[in-house]
Amino acid sequence: MATIGECLTDATRRLTAAGSETARLDAEVLLAWSIGADRTTLIAHHDAPVGADAQARFEAGVVRREAGEPVAYIRGIKEFHGLAFSVDERALIPRPETEALVDAAISEVMARLAARPGEAGAGPEHGGDPIRVADIGTGSGAIAVALAVGLRARRVTMGRNVTIAATDISPDALDLARENAVGHAAADGMRFIEADLLPPVLPDDGARFDVLLANLPYVRTDAIAGLPVAASFEPRLALDGGPDGLDAIRALLERLPEALAEDGVALLEIGADQGEGAPAAVAEALPDWRTTVEPDLAGLPRVLRVSRS
Ligand code: GLN
Repeated sequence: MATIGECLTDATRRLTAAGSETARLDAEVLLAWSIGADRTTLIAHHDAPVGADAQARFEAGVVRREAGEPVAYIRGIKEFHGLAFSVDERALIPRPETEALVDAAISEVMARLAARPGEAGAGPEHGGDPIRVADIGTGSGAIAVALAVGLRARRVTMGRNVTIAATDISPDALDLARENAVGHAAADGMRFIEADLLPPVLPDDGARFDVLLANLPYVRTDAIAGLPVAASFEPRLALDGGPDGLDAIRALLERLPEALAEDGVALLEIGADQGEGAPAAVAEALPDWRTTVEPDLAGLPRVLRVSRS
């Protein structure tokens, strides 16, 4: 019977040969998943034997990873913003850089609640209507759900203080988003809408959004082939942003005057190389509007903030 250490050494070698840039990490995550332990346990028990069932599961996982499939799809889970999300081919795997968008959204909603008469959490009778948030192209629902959970941890009552409309053009992605919302008991005040960006008529008789979030596809078409093989398992619809990567963002900018409340703000994820191109697209589509770019934790341009002047 092979030991944990032997399994890791062998799989790391095979995954390196297969072209994985994170071979050791992949091996550790897959073996931990196969055994039903966490990675720290593996590291502390290199000499422990791996049982036959776990070994078979591990082998099947390594074979899939050798073929390029992302570890997150093999496990069916990806950690994001401190939460475990179900993931599969129906949607993009949440990326760590997108946590910057969630953090910006939490700050934005909390600042808006704090600025209202009455206490945040005091309810519509004291604080007015709920803050209306939209997550456009929600995919796995990671942004909407992480936001709802983050707000709940700050004593915000979802549904009463804040509502979230999560949209996606893909009904399959919306099913996954619903599963994740239910899995985190975060579906209160959350609504799922099948639409290309936004429905022709906004929900609630066209009421506009206070905070609009989106992580739309923004990879340049000619850069798709250069992404790690794992990305070829993800829906192309979730990655391909056209010739300069900004097609979907431009289409959403077109809808902002109608979709965003007078004092509303849109927070849009952009690619690290779009720190100049994205604000230029805003200047062209919405000449009088204000735009700034905020960095992610790596210091790279990541969140495009758009509002009326
Ligand atoms: N950050 C992702 C990547 O580079 C792209 C996500 C997106 O297009 N929204 O793989």
